[in-house]
Amino acid sequence: MTGSAEPSLPPLREVIARYGLGARKALGQHFLLDLNLTGRIARAAPDLTQGTVIEIGPGPGGLTRALLAAGATRLVAVEKDRRCLEALAELAAAYPGRLQVIEGDALEIDLTALGPAPRQIVSNLPYNISTALLVNWLTVLADDPGALSAMTLMFQKEVADRLVAKPRSRAYGRLSVLTQWLCAPRPLFDIPPQAFTPPPKIVSTVVAVTPRAAPLAPASLAVLEKVTAAAFGQRRKMLRQSLKSLGLKSLTRDPAALFEATGITPTARAEELSVEDFCALARQVASGGAGGPSLAGA
Ligand code: SAM
Repeated sequence: MTGSAEPSLPPLREVIARYGLGARKALGQHFLLDLNLTGRIARAAPDLTQGTVIEIGPGPGGLTRALLAAGATRLVAVEKDRRCLEALAELAAAYPGRLQVIEGDALEIDLTALGPAPRQIVSNLPYNISTALLVNWLTVLADDPGALSAMTLMFQKEVADRLVAKPRSRAYGRLSVLTQWLCAPRPLFDIPPQAFTPPPKIVSTVVAVTPRAAPLAPASLAVLEKVTAAAFGQRRKMLRQSLKSLGLKSLTRDPAALFEATGITPTARAEELSVEDFCALARQVASGGAGGPSLAGA
């Protein structure tokens, strides 16, 4: 907390009415107006007083207010919907020097240019692009594990379940492997549809996605993406079959070599492999060590 008195602000519903911020489906807009819930999300984030706090999609500014009230001193909010900018400018004026609003597309923005490390993201994500955003941030982390120190993100529950899923479960897939390779994801709490305006059709889950200091095991992200795409693309097939789509000569000539080198059973299915197993496969494929060429461009 900052210790200073909080500025008095108009109720969010009034802000929405004054600026005509009717929710737009195409932008994944479901606003969270309940102060208890926005406060709970802000308090779930690690120390907001240090470094740069990045909020994606502030909308009318409900969570933004909570982050400022919880002590964020350098908050950068990236919003694509320019209708929200005036309302956000008012909020910035109420917290001088603490909130910078950037009109832009979060899918295009360079996170590391938004402010100095440590950087953390706190966001009630637009659902339609939540996994694309996360994959972008994982790509940044694969290159630079220090780029982000924490992420406190709201996803639709079904996506949150995939992020944290363990092998041999239905939700375990590419997103689980890529996320858990670079981060430790932990579900915090659910939020019911009726807490939002307008209510979405699904339950939401706030997830702490904490970047690891180093990846769980060495691998190239590009190769890991290809191997997991091939394996989970045909998740009911055995790996010796599903990995054929990688187009590796080693798999058509001598399918056993890749599996022998990694100690992975060729008859296993994708969902039985741990994150470390996928990394071992990716390393082997990248090195061409299974008797075939490495993946072009990976
Ligand atoms: N933070 C607000 C809240 O909690 O009430 C709004 C959350 S709403 C689920 C998602 C927000 O992301 C909307 O304000 C929407 O305009 C914004 N948004 C959608 N696509 C975006 C993009 N590509 N870049 C930045 N913001 C985007």
